[in-house]
Amino acid sequence: MLTEDPSFYIENPSRTDDTMAPAGHSALYVLVPLSHQHPNIDWSKECDRYRQVALRQLAKLGVGDIEKRIRFERIVTPVEWESKVGIYRGATFNLAHNLGQMLHLRPQNRFEEFDGMYLVGGGTHPGSGLPVIFESARISARLLLEDLGQAA
Ligand SMILES: Cc1cc2nc3c(=O)[nH]c(=O)nc-3n(C[C@H](O)[C@H](O)[C@H](O)COP(=O)(O)OP(=O)(O)OC[C@H]3O[C@@H](n4cnc5c(N)ncnc54)[C@H](O)[C@@H]3O)c2cc1C
Repeated sequence: MLTEDPSFYIENPSRTDDTMAPAGHSALYVLVPLSHQHPNIDWSKECDRYRQVALRQLAKLGVGDIEKRIRFERIVTPVEWESKVGIYRGATFNLAHNLGQMLHLRPQNRFEEFDGMYLVGGGTHPGSGLPVIFESARISARLLLEDLGQAA
């Protein structure tokens, strides 16, 4: 079930980088975190409807009057994340990006069921997001070196 009142993230990189759009135009990036692919959600039907939901959310923040000024638009749904980028179920943040599945509650870096196997990345402890993933890599590398008897 998709919420009708999603949180979202909006960025206008053209404010600080004028190569992002032709003169007099802006490049807007809007991220609306939603469910991974699920049998209850048919993105071929939801995409257009949900575009309107996102535009309504922007208007609530005072970013209205956008739709008729859009010259080019690209929407990526979980379907494309899975089919084009190979992300399982289009779940770009892996497990849930919330306290119930973050930090020590994520799968551990030293794989618990096979010796000599290590996990790394957004689906692993401590969680998703680039700074956290770099930390995940650091932890996995340290554990690997420890197990090999090498100084980290
Ligand atoms: C739209 C969006 C905005 C984001 N914004 C931010 C942000 O502002 N700040 C932030 O910190 N994080 C952000 N993130 C999250 C961050 O990008 C991810 O958490 C991070 O990229 C995950 O890194 P990863 O190395 O675990 O996986 P990925 O970056 O997904 O890398 C996994 C790679 O494995 C490849 N692959 C998959 N299956 C196979 C296979 N069978 N064989 C070989 N290769 C395979 C995939 O093609 C992919 O290249 C954002 C994510 C998205 C989608």
